[in-house]
Order: sequence, then C-alpha cells, then structure tokens
Amino acid sequence: MGIIEKMRLDGKKIFVTGGARGIGKSVATAFAEAGADLAIVDLDLDEAKKTATELEENNGIKAIAIKADVTKQEDVDAMIEEILNVFGRLDVAFCNAGICMNIPAEEMTYDQWKKVIDINLNGVFLTAQAAGKVMLKQGGGSIINTASMSGHIVNVPQPQCSYNASKAGVIQLTKSLAVEWATRNVRVNCISPGYIGTELTLNSPSLQPLIEQWNKVAPLGRMGKPEELQSICVYLAGDTSSFTTGSDFVIDGAFTCI
Ligand code: NAD
Repeated sequence: MGIIEKMRLDGKKIFVTGGARGIGKSVATAFAEAGADLAIVDLDLDEAKKTATELEENNGIKAIAIKADVTKQEDVDAMIEEILNVFGRLDVAFCNAGICMNIPAEEMTYDQWKKVIDINLNGVFLTAQAAGKVMLKQGGGSIINTASMSGHIVNVPQPQCSYNASKAGVIQLTKSLAVEWATRNVRVNCISPGYIGTELTLNSPSLQPLIEQWNKVAPLGRMGKPEELQSICVYLAGDTSSFTTGSDFVIDGAFTCI
C-alpha cells in the first residue's frame, strides 16, 4: 500500500468541536474526504446540521450533528454517549472550539477573562479528557487540539491577553496528556495556526482594520486559508503518525519567525 493510501481514514470515527464552520468545518471536510465518519459538535445546531448533511452528501460517509457546549461537563458526557451509541467507538477527537476577545488587560472584567479561558482551555481539557477515557479503554486513539500561534507570541496591536494565555495553556496541556497516555497508545498533538480567514477573523468588525496591518508584516503577505490546515490534521488523525505525539505544529506562513 502506498503512503497516500496508508494516510486514508476509512471507517474511523471522529468528532470535531466547533465543527459547524471555520477551521472545524474545513478539517471535518478533509476527514470526510479521507473516508471517516463524523460527529459535528457545536453550540450552533442548525449550522452543525447543515455541515453534517453536506459532508454526507459529498462523501458518502455518515455524519451526525450534536449540540454541545464544550464548557459543560453534562453536554460533553452526553456528546460521548451519543457518539458511542451511533458509531460504537471513537478513534479521533479534534478539540477545536474557541473564541477570542480583544480587550485591554486593565479593562477586562474577570467574567470576560473566565469566558475565554473556559471555552479555549477548560473546554479542550473536558473534551480531550472525555475522548481520552474512551480511547484508553479501546486501546488507542488520536487527539488533536487547536492551539494558536498566540500560544507562542503576543499578537499586536490588538490586546488579547486571555486568548494568548488560553492557547499557551492548550500547548502545555497537549504535551502533558501526550506523556501521560503515551504508553497506552493515545496520541495527543496540537496545531498552532497563524491568522486564518474565518468568521472569527473576517467577520469581526474590530479586526477589519488590523487585517491589513497583519498582512503587511506577514512573510507571505496574507492570511492563511482554513483548507491549508487540512493535511496536517489528516496526517495526525491517521496511522502514519504513530510516532508523533506531544507535538505542536505551527502553521503560520512564518509569522512567528519574525
Ligand atoms: P469560528 O468562530 O469561525 O468557529 C468556531 C466555532 O466554534 C463556531 O461554530 C462556534 O459556534 C463554535 N463554538 C464556540 N464556542 C463554543 C462552545 N462553547 N461549545 C461548542 N462550540 C463552540 O472560529 P475559527 O476561526 O474556525 O476558530 C477555530 C479554532 O481555531 C479556535 O480554537 C480558534 O481559537 C483557533 N484559531 C483560529 C485562528 C484564526 O485566525 N481564525 C488562528 C489560530 C487559531
């Protein structure tokens, strides 16, 4: 079997949080194209359903939509239960849901701080832990978390201290889980994208004036596209990445090199 065939995900059961749109939807599409069955998990059930239907129609795989808030233990438990009822197992978890708030540190309320940490870091812990429990019992699996280049650098000029802190936390959480579960065949990696054109960035009015500034300093002179994150995630989800765990993949068009 050639390497491309070995990288296929036929029959694998995968959940994607924040899968209704943006990076989650794009990566879920790649997983479906590679043959996996999908659970599209999101706060926005209508969009999640549309995405799941699109994936089924275009790829002949099974895709379900699940409404869950990744910050709520009961939602995450119910999500796992539904996935196991429908698919019988869980091979890959893409813990990707996240938000950003641009607020100067001295003006940020504690509630605003906690909201970002809750979704971006606690939500990744809850979903990765829930997935890990199933995978440890099954004897293996692959978890991919979405961190950010903001876990490595302090973006300017926008003030986003809670986001930066949450993403640095995701990177270290990823490494910690990878080490704890390494001998039990559960691999844990994360991706750290640079600026990617999604609803989070393109549709945020406060970010519009900044995009031009970012592109001026970006070595590639542009933002990334969600589909430019697809192949690394397919690699991490599949069996050819069996020696890859505890790694953080910075995919930022060299933005963090400057
Ligand atoms: P997006 O806003 O387009 O999509 C995020 C999805 O997550 C939405 O469908 C939303 O409904 C869902 N979501 C939000 N809170 C949730 C919750 N509590 N429970 C379940 N679902 C929830 O964002 P995106 O740009 O696709 O970002 C996806 C991930 O990538 C985030 O973790 C983000 O921090 C990260 N990221 C984005 C960029 C970028 O430039 N877009 C760069 C680096 C990292």
